[in-house]
Amino acid sequence: QDNQTASAAKILPTPTKEQPLLLNFNENSLGMSPKAQQAVVNALPQAFRYPDAAREQLIEKIAESHKLQAKNISLGNGSSESIQAVVQMAIYQAQKAGQKVQVIVPDPTFNYAELYAKALGVAVIKVPLNDKLAFDIEAMKKIADEFPGLSIVYLCNPNNPTATITPADQIDPWIKAASERTLFLLDEAYAEFVTDPRFHSGIELILKQHKNVVVTRTFSKIYALAGLRIGYAVAHEEIIAQVEDFISLDNTNAAGAVAALASLDDKTFLTISKTSVETARKIVTNALDELGLEYLPSQANFIFHKVPGEVKTYQDRMKEYHVFVGREFPPAKGWNRLTLGTPEEMTTFVSVLKEFRSKGWV
Ligand code: PLP
Repeated sequence: QDNQTASAAKILPTPTKEQPLLLNFNENSLGMSPKAQQAVVNALPQAFRYPDAAREQLIEKIAESHKLQAKNISLGNGSSESIQAVVQMAIYQAQKAGQKVQVIVPDPTFNYAELYAKALGVAVIKVPLNDKLAFDIEAMKKIADEFPGLSIVYLCNPNNPTATITPADQIDPWIKAASERTLFLLDEAYAEFVTDPRFHSGIELILKQHKNVVVTRTFSKIYALAGLRIGYAVAHEEIIAQVEDFISLDNTNAAGAVAALASLDDKTFLTISKTSVETARKIVTNALDELGLEYLPSQANFIFHKVPGEVKTYQDRMKEYHVFVGREFPPAKGWNRLTLGTPEEMTTFVSVLKEFRSKGWV
C-alpha cells in the first residue's frame, strides 16, 4: 500500500439496506462545496423571485472561465437539457431545409443523444467501439461522408461507460476537414477530471470560430451538483442562438445557479474533488492489479473493469452486500462500470471485492 492509500483507508460502517454504498450513477459522493451549500441557504429567502439575475451572472462567469462571451453559452437544466436542445435544434434545422438527418454514436456510449433523436423518429447509427474499446473514428467518418444529408456526430469525451479519452489528434482533424453536413456534439461531462495531455477540449475549436462543434459541460460531476441540475452548451454565437430556441425558458433554478457560481469561485474544492477521485481510483486500481482484473485507463470519476463470469451475477451478489456497482454496457460484454466514490467508500468496496475473491466469485 502506498501512503496515499493507507491514509485514506478509514473504516466506514458496513453498507446496509438503509445505507447502501451507491457506486452506480457516476455521482460525486464528496458532496458539493461547503461554499456552494452556504450560497443556497443564503439565496433561499429570495427564491420566490425568478432566477434571472443569478442566471445572467452564471452565464457571464462560465463564459469568462472559457475566455468566451455570454452569447457562446446556453444554460441547461443539467447538460441533459443542453444535449436535448442541440439534438432537437439540429434535426429541426435539417428538416426545415429539406435535408435528411441521422445521428451517429459510438456503442456503447451515454445514450441521451440517441434517445432524444429516436423520439423524433430520426435514425441513429451505432458504431461499435474497436477491439481496444476506443472510438472507431474512421468508421464513423465514413458513415457521415457517405450520407446525403446532415449527420449529428455525438462524441462523449471521456466516454461513458469506458472512462477513457479520445485524443485530440483523432477528433480535431475530422472536425476541421468536415463539411457543413456534419455537426459535432462533444459531451465533456467529465472533462475536469482529465489529466492526460492528449485530451483537448472542443472549446478550443469554438475559440477558433468553428461553427460545426457544440460542447456540453455539467456541474453534476466535478462540482457534485447533480441534484441541482446545472449544465450548459458552448458553441459559436450563431449556433447558440438556435439552441436557445429549444431550451425551456427560465430553465435555471435559483439554488442551482448560486451553487454553481459559488463552485466556480471555490478553487480549493475543485482541487479536493480532483484529488479525491485520483486517490479513490488508485485504491481501486491497486486492488484490481492485485486480483489480476483488467481495467481501462480511467480519466473520469468511474472505471470500466472486467468481471469474470456473468456481470449480472456479480452485481446481484454485490447488491446482497448492499453495494450497487453499476452495470454492464452491451455490446461490451464482461465489463462493469464502477463509480469512484470517496476514498473511504472505495476502501469498503475493495474489502468486499477481496471477500468475493476468497469465495471464488471474482
Ligand atoms: N453526459 C454524460 C456523459 C453523463 O454521464 C451524464 C450523466 O451521467 C450527463 C451527460 C448528464 O448529466 P447532467 O444532466 O446531470 O448534466
